[in-house]
Amino acid sequence: LVSRKWRVKPTVLDLGDGVTIGEGTLALCAGPCSIESEAQMEKVMTHLLENGVRLMRGGVFKPRSSPYSFRGLGMDGLKLFHSMARARGIKIVTEVMQVSQVEEMHDYVDVFQVGARNTQNFNLLDALGGVDKPVMIKRGISGTIEELLSSAEYVFSGGNEKLILCERGIRTFETASRNTLDLNAVPILKEKSHLPVIVDPSHGIGIRDYVPAMALAGVLAGADGIVYETHETPETAASDGQQTLNFDESAKLVRNLRRVFALR
Ligand code: PEP
Ligand code: MN
Repeated sequence: LVSRKWRVKPTVLDLGDGVTIGEGTLALCAGPCSIESEAQMEKVMTHLLENGVRLMRGGVFKPRSSPYSFRGLGMDGLKLFHSMARARGIKIVTEVMQVSQVEEMHDYVDVFQVGARNTQNFNLLDALGGVDKPVMIKRGISGTIEELLSSAEYVFSGGNEKLILCERGIRTFETASRNTLDLNAVPILKEKSHLPVIVDPSHGIGIRDYVPAMALAGVLAGADGIVYETHETPETAASDGQQTLNFDESAKLVRNLRRVFALR
C-alpha cells in the first residue's frame, strides 16, 4: 500500500492552516530535542516564526540510552507545548513511545513521531494505524530501507494513510559521526514509495558544525523536507546539545535550504 505500484501519485499531507508536507513544497521542521520549559518554547517559537517555519519538533517522552538522563516533561509538557503552538499557528511533531500514550496524546499533537528505537514496535504501529493524525516514522537504528517501508505498511494497512518516512542515519562501523546519514535512502524511498520523505541531519551525523551541510545535501538528494534540532543555547540543552544549532545557525540554514530547494 505504501508502494508506488499501489499509488503512483505522491501523497501530500495537509496539516491545516496552510502547512503541507509532500511533493512540491519544502517542509521545514525545527525545534529542541526535548521540550524543557515555557521560556524555552517561547524563544524557539519566536525564532521559528521569524523564519517562516511552521512545524516544531520537541520531545516530551524521550527515549534515552541511560535511565539517569533527562526523560522529558511528559503530558504536562505536551499540553503546554500544544497550547503555545496553537496560539501561534505552529504545528507540533512529537514522539510517542508506547501504545498507552497514543490516546492521551492524540488531541495535543499534529504529527506523531515514531522514534528509531520504536520503528519495529509493531503494537505501537498497529495503534497508530487507528488514529486520524499523521505519523512520521523514523528509520530504525540498524534498520534497512525495506524494514522502514514495512513499518509504514503496518500503519497504512491499519487504516491511517497519513504517513511520513524519515531517514535519520543508521549505525555502521564508522565512529567519527554519531550515525551514518544514508542519503542513498532518499531517492530509493522516493522511487519505491509515494509517501513524503524527510531527512533528519541532526541525528544523522550528530555533530553541530556538520548538520547544515547534510541538511542541504538531503534536499538536493530529493527530500520533501528537513527536521533538525535548534535551541537558543545548545550548550545548556537537556539533550542532544552537541548536534543542536543555535538560532543564528538555524536562520542561515533555513535561508540556504530554500535556495537549494529552488534549484531543484
Ligand atoms: C529525536 O528526534 O530526538 C530522537 C530521539 O530521534 P531518533 O528516534 O531518530 O533517535
Ligand atoms: Mn534528539
